Amino acid sequence: KMKKYLKKFVGIAAALALLCTGCSRQPTAYQSMDTAMGTIISQTIYTSANEETAGEILGEVISCIDDLEANNLSWRLETSEIYQINAGAGSGQEVEISDLLTNVFDQCKKVYAASNGAFDFTIGSVARLWNIDAWAREVQGTTSYIVPSQEQLAEALVYVGADKADVDGSMVSLPEGMQIDLGAVGKGIALDEIRNVLEQRTEVTGAVISVGGSILTYGSKPDGSAWNVGIVDPFDTSQNMGVLSLTGSWCVSTSGDYERYVEVDGVRYHHILDPYTGMPADSGVKSVTILTESGLFSDALSTACFVLGVEDGLELAEMFDAEALFVDEQGEITMTEGMEQYFYLSNAGK
Ligand code: AMP
Ligand code: MG
Repeated sequence: KMKKYLKKFVGIAAALALLCTGCSRQPTAYQSMDTAMGTIISQTIYTSANEETAGEILGEVISCIDDLEANNLSWRLETSEIYQINAGAGSGQEVEISDLLTNVFDQCKKVYAASNGAFDFTIGSVARLWNIDAWAREVQGTTSYIVPSQEQLAEALVYVGADKADVDGSMVSLPEGMQIDLGAVGKGIALDEIRNVLEQRTEVTGAVISVGGSILTYGSKPDGSAWNVGIVDPFDTSQNMGVLSLTGSWCVSTSGDYERYVEVDGVRYHHILDPYTGMPADSGVKSVTILTESGLFSDALSTACFVLGVEDGLELAEMFDAEALFVDEQGEITMTEGMEQYFYLSNAGK
């Protein structure tokens, strides 16, 4: 049986001793690489605490992500709140949820409404039909993947529509057939929770943490220089097309058609779905990067903007005071005015 989620501590904290002449106060960088939430977590934290304490902090961040997945967000793990809510769909029974999840639904509903349903966390029935999680195996050619038919999609779409979910407050329930999928916001929520962990650990003076490509910058580097967050070139994912140069605490999330996809008979199907059609979104966009202080909003908005396309996406980002950068199918870059001050195009980029 497949392991439901990966929590194995893969990396060991590696201390990069910064040059420090005789002082023990100067923060040192500690790094680790782990797997959690089915994705790669890479951490760099700066602290003047000793190596043992730094290792503890790196471990706390991973536990926090594992707990979030197991207790709250996963649609696969029976232990999670989302699993319980989905299991009760159509039963009429209300499920009592945590403050964390109440807050998540509250924020998700705002993005759902503002995006006219382009971001819809009740997309579970359609996402299950596409069986996105099997794609990684399909790419390796070990399964025979069948694209859902229009009839199947139409049937599943009946159960999509966050306005029909009773998710206000602490008692929630879903109508028959509806399934919640927080895949579009899970990494962003993780960034918000990680920031809470770091704030408790006052000995951490700076950090940059990547959860499967959604990135949190926190505090500052000992030398005061900016954090450089790379933005992947959607036409050549082995390189960055540019960087965001950031000081202080930020969240950066990117949604791209290159992240997860399957190819069948020469047609490429990617994982960001249009809730109106059930098909992979086709708005002419290759990738969208959102920069904002909130992890959840950066992640939700990147997905929503990908579905909406450049014009409506820019408008949506502005409604949330978020900065956005779009790369369209022609390779053209469009960004909010505020993004221009952070973005630097790579020499290698086009
Ligand atoms: P992201 O990579 O953050 O854009 O999120 C994509 C994931 O969110 C997919 O793997 C689905 O589980 C889910 N998803 C796909 N399309 C949507 C959508 N339009 N609204 C909300 N969630 C979606
Ligand atoms: Mg997202």
